Amino acid sequence: MAPKYLTGDKAGISEFLDRFDVFLFDCDGVLWSGDHLFPGTAETIDMLRKKGKQLVFVTNNSTKSRADYKKKFDSMGIEAKVEEVFGSSYSASIYISRILKLQAPKNKVFVLGESGIEQELESENVPYCGGTDPSLRRDIEPEDYKKIADGSMLDPEVGCVLTGLDFHVNYLKLSLAFAYLRQGAVFLATNTDSTLPNSHTLFPGAGAVGAPLVKAIGREPLALGKPSQAMMDAIEGKFQFDRSRTCMIGDRLNTDIQFGIEGKLGGTLAVLTGVSKKEEFLAEGAEVVPTAYVDKLGDLLG
Ligand code: PLP
Ligand code: CA
Repeated sequence: MAPKYLTGDKAGISEFLDRFDVFLFDCDGVLWSGDHLFPGTAETIDMLRKKGKQLVFVTNNSTKSRADYKKKFDSMGIEAKVEEVFGSSYSASIYISRILKLQAPKNKVFVLGESGIEQELESENVPYCGGTDPSLRRDIEPEDYKKIADGSMLDPEVGCVLTGLDFHVNYLKLSLAFAYLRQGAVFLATNTDSTLPNSHTLFPGAGAVGAPLVKAIGREPLALGKPSQAMMDAIEGKFQFDRSRTCMIGDRLNTDIQFGIEGKLGGTLAVLTGVSKKEEFLAEGAEVVPTAYVDKLGDLLG
C-alpha cells in the first residue's frame, strides 16, 4: 500500500498516533543529525509523553553506551531516561550475557570497536580484550605474525569476536580477530550498517569495518542491531509491548523501516531528515515501504 503523507494532515496525524501505544525511535537522522537537533524534536517527544505513549530510543551507534546517550539527550534538552535507550552495543552485550552465556574457559570477547561496546560489556559483567587497548594501535610487526601463528599472542579465554565501528581499525586487530574466528570463536556484530552518515557526507559504517573478516573467514556475523530481529526480540524481552500497537520511526529504509516491517509492528513512519529519500519508497516496485511519512519529526505536532 502507498505510504500516507502526514505532514500538514492534522486529522491523519491524530488518527495515526492513536493507533499506537509504543514508539521505537531511531536517533540519528530522526531526532538530530550529529550535534544538530532538528526543530520540534523535544516538543514532539513531550507531546507523545503527555499522550501516555511509551518511548524507546533504538540506535545502531555502537560507539556510545546508553549512559553516553543519556548525556547527549540531556545536552540536547530532550527528556529521556537511560532505561529508555537501547543501543546496538547494549543489545550485543545482553545477547552475550543472557543468551549466548559463554562458558569459562572461553568466556572472553575480543572487541573490534570503541568504548561504547566496552562500557556495555562491563555493565553485563562480560570480560573482554581488544577494543580501545592502546597497545593494539600500531602497525603489525614481523614478530606478531609468529606470535599469532603459535598462539602466544592470543588470549586463550576468547570465545567470541564482536565487531562494531572502530575508528582505529588496523591490520593487527583484524589479524587477531581472524585468528580467534579460525579457532571457532562465535562471530557477532553490533550492527552491519554499510555507511555512516555525518554532517559532511557518507563514511564507511560498522558493516564496512567488519567486512574484511567476513571475506577472510567466509561466514557472516550475527548482527544485534537494526534490522536484525535479535534486537527486536531483546527490546521486546525488556519492555514487553504489543507489537501490533507499536510503531518504528526511522530515516533509513534498509535498517529502521525494514526492522519494523520484519518485526511485524503495527506501523512504520519514515522521516525525510536522514539517509533515505522519498523517491526510494514511492518508486514503483519499491521493496521497503513505510506505513506513513513526514518531512520531519516535528511535523507530528500538527
Ligand atoms: N553507527 C555510528 C557509529 C553512528 O555514529 C551512527 C549515528 O550517529 C549510527 C551508526 C546510526 O545511528 P542511528 O541508528 O541512531 O541512526
Ligand atoms: Ca538513523
